[in-house]
Amino acid sequence: MIIQIDGTHGEGGGQILRTALGLSLVTGKPFSIQNIRGKRKKPGLLRQHLTAVKAAATIGNAELNGANLGSAQLVFRPQSVTAGDYHFAVGTAGSATLVLQAVLPALLGADGPSTLHLEGGTHNPWAPPFDFLQQSFLSCLQRMGPVVDIDLQRHGFYPAGGGALRARIEPAPLTPFELGERGKVKAITTTALVARLPRHIAERELAVVKKQLDLPNRACRVVEVSESHSPGNVVSIVVESAQVCEVFTGFGEKRVSAEQVARRVSKQSKEYLDSGVPVGEYLADQLLIPMALAGGGSFRTGPLSLHARTNIDVIEMFLDVKFAVNEHADNTTTVSVAC
Ligand code: ATP
Repeated sequence: MIIQIDGTHGEGGGQILRTALGLSLVTGKPFSIQNIRGKRKKPGLLRQHLTAVKAAATIGNAELNGANLGSAQLVFRPQSVTAGDYHFAVGTAGSATLVLQAVLPALLGADGPSTLHLEGGTHNPWAPPFDFLQQSFLSCLQRMGPVVDIDLQRHGFYPAGGGALRARIEPAPLTPFELGERGKVKAITTTALVARLPRHIAERELAVVKKQLDLPNRACRVVEVSESHSPGNVVSIVVESAQVCEVFTGFGEKRVSAEQVARRVSKQSKEYLDSGVPVGEYLADQLLIPMALAGGGSFRTGPLSLHARTNIDVIEMFLDVKFAVNEHADNTTTVSVAC
């Protein structure tokens, strides 16, 4: 039997496709998706999504139908997943980290270790930035069993891309994960990175973050890089607590002042700090698949995004699990999953 997916469901974006690819590989269940990214302004398979489809097909030796740029439908029939050494390039600024997101679930349960060499954007708006993956998402995942190390070989920024990262994946059975409390906040640090742009941009950003979050000088760092193919600017705020590390990211944009970029990311971090929850909006939607694969676990977060709710629906189409989403009066949410 083939799983039928409507790409306009819920949020109607690329996550539906990535989750379907990942879990089709894990379960061996084929799927057919119509109206891919049906609620996006430019629907269908963009290069980034097509790279994820082809990467998943290579790893799972899958039969494909409809895997073309712009395609609104796809049929994906995987065979067995093969661990190994793979190289996938998005070819534009499309996110390399979202390609990782699509194939990681399968490689976590493969019959041996794998190495992925990924090229594309490493620090894109609307995708997990490298630093978030490394310090936040993957550190949670490692607590569930598998060891995943990533290293950044070249920064890739929107719109030029051209970044490179390597991921080494040591599979292990996933164990249930509980993250109800954040624990004491141990450190808040911030980094303003400029690539082939004047240093004063980073300095102005740090001045704003320092003031907004009341940080000492030693918690603020400028990083200048020159190896990227294009200019770029990223401000990261890392909140390290006893039980979890969260990373908030602001991206420099044309016609947006350095101060404004820094104010936006400071606001996100402050909202997180004030909320008291351990899990921020993006980590919440990314923890759902590993927790479902573990067959149990729970976490506390803020109001659950439509992105996360849509992800839950797709996960439940492939795996024999049931999520419970409990909204509390204090505007926090507990998400739990059980078989
Ligand atoms: P599209 O249809 O354009 O492909 P999408 O639905 O795939 O969109 P988004 O909804 O933008 O993409 O989210 C992609 C993923 O990137 C999600 O898993 C989200 O958690 C993650 N993400 C986005 N921004 C950040 C961020 N600043 N930090 C961490 N993760 C992020």
